[in-house]
Amino acid sequence: MSRLHLKPGKEKSLLRRHPWIYASAVGRAEGNPGSGATVEVRAADGRFLAWAAYSPESSIRARAWSFVESTRVTADLLAERVRNAVRRRAALTDDSTAIRLVFGEADGLPGLIVDRYADQLVTQFQAAGVDAWRDVLIDALLAATGCRGVYDRSDGATRVREGLPAISGVLRGSEPAAQIEVQEHGLRFHVDVRRGHKTGFYVDQRDNRRRARNLAAQHLERSGREPRCLNCFCYTGGFSIAMLAGGAEFVHSIDSSAEALRVAGEHMALNGLAPERARWEEADVFTALRALKGAGPPFDLIVLDPPKFASSHHHVDRAARAYKDINLSALRLLAPGGSLLTFSCSGAIDVDLFQKIVAGAVIDAGVEAWLVARLGASADHPLMMTVPESEYLKGLHLMRVG
Ligand code: SAH
Repeated sequence: MSRLHLKPGKEKSLLRRHPWIYASAVGRAEGNPGSGATVEVRAADGRFLAWAAYSPESSIRARAWSFVESTRVTADLLAERVRNAVRRRAALTDDSTAIRLVFGEADGLPGLIVDRYADQLVTQFQAAGVDAWRDVLIDALLAATGCRGVYDRSDGATRVREGLPAISGVLRGSEPAAQIEVQEHGLRFHVDVRRGHKTGFYVDQRDNRRRARNLAAQHLERSGREPRCLNCFCYTGGFSIAMLAGGAEFVHSIDSSAEALRVAGEHMALNGLAPERARWEEADVFTALRALKGAGPPFDLIVLDPPKFASSHHHVDRAARAYKDINLSALRLLAPGGSLLTFSCSGAIDVDLFQKIVAGAVIDAGVEAWLVARLGASADHPLMMTVPESEYLKGLHLMRVG
């Protein structure tokens, strides 16, 4: 059995059941463990702390599977965790066929992401531990869901940091259809699991898209006028379609990806929406927002859902300026009484900092705004109380009051 002996004092986070063991905490590795191998983790005084998966190239040198000495890491244990993950999702999702079934640390499977699109499963093995148990995990997923197809999208940047090759392709079943149709709260979307972003769709924004839809409907009900909406970083138009379904008069959507906008256009017809209610602009949001100022009446509802601006703590300052810039531009385009849904999916920027950045934009825009709600990822992306870092997506719902 391989062992990691931690440096004195470095056991504290494990005692709080936080699963990450940084390279800087490891005093000595015994037994020459390979990538993904199970290691026993001991404190400097020899106390047992955890069973963990070793990741020789990552700055997160090991990820704990279990904090209980008698809970050994076996195929049965991991299969049980997969079953639990799938079973628990049943209570967390409704009315949708695009669901996150496994969300890494929250499901006791650090580094594993599994999304389900109708009957197709899509996996991301983002850490050495889950990568080493691939076959066991896939078999358990198929047994727990009754699905037959698994497509792997382990092609993100996280694997590179783990020293694992970026790979994608069919793991089980046949090649998935170019477009898989899913339902989300009664709306229909096409998902390209092979070439789309992440696993194909931003499942995490499901509940926030519903909020946008409800806000559009409320605007119509309260003011008697259909809202004019703006969706920045629209990808395949999820928020745009939701706002149109809620009764928006018109949605102007901006993204730099021509392919995403093409699929967004398909989503109009798929949901029976007249094409003239949408404008899809292929542009850089930073410049497009500036160009919109003074170009027409203000918007009643604006969504800002940019990609991750800060990929690590080193990029926080630059990212903060970028968030401030787009939020300032958006607030200048927002009608009094209108709502802004603004997001950050940068793990390195916590919700307090994000709120401060947006508050700075509110001040510079010379408007008054209420914080109506703090937003996060949908409930199928639960936050493990012991692992606050997994809260990557945060959002603010602001209402302009003056
Ligand atoms: N809100 C979307 C997800 C947004 S993902 C949804 O609900 O599905 C972020 C999007 O921003 C991607 O589609 C990417 O193509 C786009 N993007 C990244 N940088 C951009 C930029 N500078 N200007 C415009 N779009 C950009």
